[in-house]
Amino acid sequence: MNFESELKKGRFAVGECARCHRVSWPPSESCSNCFGELVWRQVREPGIIIECSAIDGKAFAMAEFEGMIRILGSTSEKNLEPGQKVKITSCDFDQTPKFTFAMV
Ligand SMILES: [Zn+2]
Repeated sequence: MNFESELKKGRFAVGECARCHRVSWPPSESCSNCFGELVWRQVREPGIIIECSAIDGKAFAMAEFEGMIRILGSTSEKNLEPGQKVKITSCDFDQTPKFTFAMV
């Protein structure tokens, strides 16, 4: 189980260290703090919008989860603003991680 394979199944998983309980972000093979073994689990929602923008009529947003995990995603929401709570409605991996967000 790892970050990419979980994304392809539509699950956004993060690796939490079994020893020091820190989440390793960006994803890595072992804990970036103590090199301990990672336990993969679902990210905790909701996240918070950090910034949003629109390119060619499509809306994109940077969202932060668990106070440290920042991911870029697309959204069909028209009125997203920084501070808005969002959940991940889909995720995939196609060369890079792909996420979509919706308001909570
Ligand atoms: Zn650790």
